[in-house]
Amino acid sequence: MDVYGLIGNPVGHSLSPPMHEAAYEELDLNARYVTFEPDAADGAAAVEAAETLGVDGLNVTIPFKEDVLDAVEPDDLARRVGAVNTVDFSGEVPTGHNTDVAGVQRSFEHFDVPLAGADAVVVGAGGAARAAAVALVTDGAEVAIANRTVERAEALADDVGADAHGLDALEDLVSEADVLVNATSVGMEEDVSPVPADALHGDLAVLDAVYTPLETRLLREAADAGATTIDGAWMLLYQGVAAFERWTGEDAPVEAMNAALREGL
Ligand code: NAP
Repeated sequence: MDVYGLIGNPVGHSLSPPMHEAAYEELDLNARYVTFEPDAADGAAAVEAAETLGVDGLNVTIPFKEDVLDAVEPDDLARRVGAVNTVDFSGEVPTGHNTDVAGVQRSFEHFDVPLAGADAVVVGAGGAARAAAVALVTDGAEVAIANRTVERAEALADDVGADAHGLDALEDLVSEADVLVNATSVGMEEDVSPVPADALHGDLAVLDAVYTPLETRLLREAADAGATTIDGAWMLLYQGVAAFERWTGEDAPVEAMNAALREGL
């Protein structure tokens, strides 16, 4: 039997187990997906332990994401993002990958939104924003990053080849943009949007990384403005799809995984 899993703390509410197990069931694979919640945030020790135990693949979440980077051989993308969220133990040494980038790219692809040549705006400068910015730049978009703390936007923009702004620039940036990603946590706790509603328009595609709730105020207002709206569960789904495909070498049963994920949400 193949064993895959998620390491993080906390991981009790993770939707990865039902999403991956739905795929194993659909394709009749002899595999299980389990969660590991160590107290000590030592990613290197955790990777070594998983390898010793014969785990085939690991997803990695907070607080291990950056830490694990030094314990594996990261691929170019994981290096550029500066974080590993998927470890593959099938080679001679554990390799590290970042499937959040594919999560963003494949979400837009699913909705037939072209990224090459698009004017894109990313709100935020944390981990999700970094993955989104790398995804958009890699697919040929012109990216502007707007963040509450402008210095963090500048640092990220320097790293990925984008422009940096404060949140006060959002209205102008978004009214001219083709693509918008909210990669802040704004909209999770309260029914507020990080983007002025007046700036949203019908030629825009909006991905909100927030997935609790699924329908954020930003997506509601974007839909009212006639924009294409993509909720955060799509990004979550496609990062899982990318991990599944890397580990198993099979095409993922996307519909079964999506149904399990949305049932969990
Ligand atoms: P993070 O590294 O902590 O970054 C948080 C970002 O949100 C920072 O840019 C921060 O700005 C900004 N922010 C927080 N509160 C704000 C406020 N009140 N007003 C304006 N900006 C604010 O977090 P993360 O890991 O990137 O996650 C961000 C969001 O993406 C979360 O909701 C997370 O659940 C979601 N996410 C979704 C997926 C998915 O697959 N759908 C994957 C990863 C993350 P400052 O720099 O100024 O503090």
